[in-house]
Amino acid sequence: MIRMENVNKSYFMGEESLHVLKDISLTVEKGDYLTILGPSGSGKSTLMNILGCMDTSDSGIYQFNDIELNKCTNKELSWFRNQKIGFIFQKYNLIPQYTAMQNIIMPLLIRGITRNEAVKKADKIVSLVGLSDRIMHKPNELSGGQQQRVAIARALITEPSLLLADEPTGSLDSATGKDILALFKKLNNNGNTIIVISHNNQVAKQSKRIISILDGKLIE
Ligand code: ATP
Ligand code: MG
Repeated sequence: MIRMENVNKSYFMGEESLHVLKDISLTVEKGDYLTILGPSGSGKSTLMNILGCMDTSDSGIYQFNDIELNKCTNKELSWFRNQKIGFIFQKYNLIPQYTAMQNIIMPLLIRGITRNEAVKKADKIVSLVGLSDRIMHKPNELSGGQQQRVAIARALITEPSLLLADEPTGSLDSATGKDILALFKKLNNNGNTIIVISHNNQVAKQSKRIISILDGKLIE
């Protein structure tokens, strides 16, 4: 599904430059569940931004299904991102004024799907992620684990080809984090392709594959 070959990325600040990703090569098959594990500053989020079409590499190949994303325009990349990728972040990134349900269905409303249809679709996903009795509450009335379930449901509702999660358990206590990772395993068993980015060994152990990143280089 994904093939990266010799991807490089530097950040330029005036005269200075920082070579963050160094000849990254990576393949991910449909149905895979892998963790990219590395310490702070190793380039994890930089790699995730490129995988998620939020940023572009300086050189190298990034192929997703049959599309060479490294040759796409920014407009094509943002279309691709909206169609194909679901994001989950450490800080959940929910809209505080909206209820859980409103947060979850928002991506469908943006696509022009009617509220009724959107809620029908959400109901299935809400029970899949284990949220059913809390969906009329706003984020500040939910626990961290529940907020992350809302964020996961919102990521799933557009049926993305790839789920990308950057430190999804980073704001949770270890028991709640384990519950969220158990949910990832369930989603993966249902056929979802998942890439988790983390600095935490325990998080990595739950996935099918672990790839380490150190100083911008990958080691499987
Ligand atoms: P953490 O675990 O702390 O989130 P990370 O592995 O995600 O770290 P990145 O955010 O990818 O690391 O950063 C890699 C390096 O690139 C760091 O040295 C960081 O300071 C630098 N960096 C990241 N983003 C930018 C940017 N937009 N401009 C300049 N330098 C950046
Ligand atoms: Mg990061």
